[in-house]
Amino acid sequence: MRHIAIVGSGPAGYYTAEACQKAFGNDIQVDIIDRLPVPFGLIRTGVAPDHQSIKGVARRYETVALTENVRFVGNVTIGRDLSIDELRTLYDAVVLATGAPRDRPLEIPGAELPGVVGSAAFVGWYNGHPDHAALGPLLDDPGAVVIGNGNVALDVARILAKTEAEFGGSDIVGPALALLGEAKIHTITLLGRRGPHQIAMTPKELDELGHLVRAAPIVDPADLPPPGADAALDPGQRKSVMLLRQLAEHPDAAKPIRIVFDFYAMPIAIEGDGRVERIIVERTAIDAEGRAHGTGETYAIPAGLVVSCIGYRTPPIEGVPYDERAGRFANEEGRVLPGLYAVGWARRGPSGTIGTNRPDGYAIAEKIGADIPVGSGKAGREGLDALLASRDVDVVTFADWQRIEAAEVAAAREGAPREKFTSIEGLLGARGA
Ligand code: NAP
Repeated sequence: MRHIAIVGSGPAGYYTAEACQKAFGNDIQVDIIDRLPVPFGLIRTGVAPDHQSIKGVARRYETVALTENVRFVGNVTIGRDLSIDELRTLYDAVVLATGAPRDRPLEIPGAELPGVVGSAAFVGWYNGHPDHAALGPLLDDPGAVVIGNGNVALDVARILAKTEAEFGGSDIVGPALALLGEAKIHTITLLGRRGPHQIAMTPKELDELGHLVRAAPIVDPADLPPPGADAALDPGQRKSVMLLRQLAEHPDAAKPIRIVFDFYAMPIAIEGDGRVERIIVERTAIDAEGRAHGTGETYAIPAGLVVSCIGYRTPPIEGVPYDERAGRFANEEGRVLPGLYAVGWARRGPSGTIGTNRPDGYAIAEKIGADIPVGSGKAGREGLDALLASRDVDVVTFADWQRIEAAEVAAAREGAPREKFTSIEGLLGARGA
């Protein structure tokens, strides 16, 4: 019997569990440990609440979770309740699937001013992540700036721009919906330090921005490279740039909220008296390698909210080699130390879609099979249970989660799939409901 512990119950964790089941049949026991009392990681707290079809993949993870040889061990924090070394003593393989839940820091003067938030916090807020549910972002100013030209920047701009009715069928948490309903924002500026050819936005997500009820994207035709240059782009990128061209050709001036694409615009400082009032931006030029360089020309954009969507980092864990520059665990194709692996964003950094984690999980299962051809008789889950019991850890099981989920579904506002509990206490309390 091989004993496998997976730390993190998001897509990378569940795909790895699924792959281990396929590779080793019944000759395994897999424990999926999560610091939250709820499973599914980014599916629950990262994927936008109005993208319910993407969240549907959780049903596939549930199938894995409900099998005999896979367990969910929630509300257990590595570094507080037990250490990585203890896990490595108990299990033949430990797989770190901890994702990248920390914001890449925005290292410009003024970034600490109230009103400046990172996307991890902002996205966590509207998705009811217990770490961020109390964020209360400042939405009382007509100007908002979203830094970054990736899909997270698109998510944030869209959520800021939608009407209450457009959140019908979503699981945005009630308090966020209420605060957004009072927002005074009229102009959302999307800052890209490079140009349209360098955006990291995918066509489907970009297209959505052009179909909002009260908000319209504004693209300056002068920012677009000559159409002939699009031939050098890969097909997905070309499609996204085509969408930008269409938006530039058909500006929709009638809608009250403007989502302004400000390309070649690098944030250099944030200013304000006690809170953000404006962001200072330097115009850039792109060199032959596609890198942005400041031109010396600067200007100010008034804003009461700045959301920085510039990527994420994996938090380090004591005793685990870490690549400081890349912001993830140091690893060789997923191998970190003997018997210790990393998968998903914790392995490769914050890129790709949910589905990208599937081949990642299968590749790690293959490596585990090659490195650990037979189980070594370690204590596995019995050993973990004994250790956690000796420390009085209040473990949440998958059956507990199903009771929490039932309570969330029962509490849903009309048309919504659920109303999430947004505090650890609320989640733990719902087990007994
Ligand atoms: P991303 O795709 O890496 O985009 C990050 C953006 O931030 C880039 O435009 C980058 O510009 C910019 N940036 C980085 N540092 C900056 C700085 N110091 N100043 C100004 N701009 C800076 O990351 P993401 O948007 O966080 O998304 C993470 C992953 O999740 C991506 O793979 C994304 O596709 C995926 N995702 C998918 C969906 C979906 O499919 N619906 C939704 C959300 C997220 P440069 O290019 O110039 O570095």
